[in-house]
Amino acid sequence: MATSKSRKSPPLMKPDRDRRFAAEENPFEAMMSRFDDAAARLKLEPGLYRVLRAPEKQIIVSVPIPRDNGEIEVFTGFRVLHNTSRGPAKGGIRFDLNVSLDEVKALAAWMTWKCAVVNLPFGGSKGGVICDPSSMSDREIERLTRRYTSAIIETLGPDSDVPAPDVNTNERVMAWIMDTYSMHKRHTVTGVVTGKPVAMGGSLGRRDATGRGCLVVTRSALARHKMKLQGASVAVQGFGNVGSTAARLMAEAGMKVVAVSDKSGGIYNRKGLDIADCLKWVNEHRFLHGYRKAEAVSNDELLTLQCDVLVPAALENVITSKNANAIQAKIICEGANGPTTAQADVILDAKGVYVIPDILANAGGVTVSYFEWVQDRGGYFWDEETVNDRLQKIMMRSFDEVSEMSEKHKVSMRIGAYMLAIDRVAAMHRMRGLYA
Ligand code: GLU
Repeated sequence: MATSKSRKSPPLMKPDRDRRFAAEENPFEAMMSRFDDAAARLKLEPGLYRVLRAPEKQIIVSVPIPRDNGEIEVFTGFRVLHNTSRGPAKGGIRFDLNVSLDEVKALAAWMTWKCAVVNLPFGGSKGGVICDPSSMSDREIERLTRRYTSAIIETLGPDSDVPAPDVNTNERVMAWIMDTYSMHKRHTVTGVVTGKPVAMGGSLGRRDATGRGCLVVTRSALARHKMKLQGASVAVQGFGNVGSTAARLMAEAGMKVVAVSDKSGGIYNRKGLDIADCLKWVNEHRFLHGYRKAEAVSNDELLTLQCDVLVPAALENVITSKNANAIQAKIICEGANGPTTAQADVILDAKGVYVIPDILANAGGVTVSYFEWVQDRGGYFWDEETVNDRLQKIMMRSFDEVSEMSEKHKVSMRIGAYMLAIDRVAAMHRMRGLYA
């Protein structure tokens, strides 16, 4: 999370509120259109279809906090539990100006499908607060986190709903959630959130897990296309936790990372970037803007660069019907949630671009969140090698299961992943029956 206020910021892209309401880019519709397609192919019973469409619980809260200048400001927060048939709800919390109920509903459902794709004993949830953390001090973010946590405290708990980091939240924020929840419970409950600092019940390997998972499935996808990992070129959009880790691990594995970007813009070097050096620059300057050892490119240009693999690892709706035709990558590994619209899917399919869908590609994060939850509950902690080995095993197995589904039904990897997920969640509903 950006916390340093003293440095001068480069001009940033303003969140474009109107864009969010364009029909193609409504995240809930984007999720539902894939769900409908997969459900129809599975011949899902109409009753179950209705159950799985509807989120179980939607909470909207006002979050008043005093700003540092003494003024009271009231923020709006959400927590949506989409489905808990397979286990406690699991899903991150984001702090962002673009948060909306529709977005949180879509992201909660995506968590249900994601956990089912990698076969974790969790349901799906998501939370968010409409705010601009880059304009807030650490103390204000702490107050916001604690007040939001207490507003949704009834839903939280290791057996009911377990948050984690997402856009603009991090280990620090998870520590405050854990502390606030524990103060209410009158004892320490580490298992109420994942993505915590390792020293307070977090898991080794959690911070890198999403990016590491991206590398594992990219390796499988390259092998499937008989392409070599060594030297394969990759462009990464987004240089937050997921994008920067994916870029670093892919470079370490021998791939050639030709471009990376953040909200200040992108940088490109045909011969490959020195990712360690880029990370050092961002550590010192907060943004990639101004990095001199590469050409500047815009975020839009980065997406259509010539490369073998494109990793969109920032926000939703970056690959749309407007630019899908111009994509040159052979493989897209979706590090972000919902980066591709349903209309863009059709264009990419027709072009033969192989998309590793978000609910598979970025599931490494929640997989290690699951490991963290298991370790907290058992009170016994694993070494990093064990975490990474088990993560790799789950990601490789899930990739193969999604591939099998997509081949069997002659559908894209995305629809294959939805079919696998819906099938698993529906099976649980059939076994449990309907309590009425
Ligand atoms: N926010 C991450 C995601 O979208 C992680 C969720 C979790 O670990 O619970 O997958």
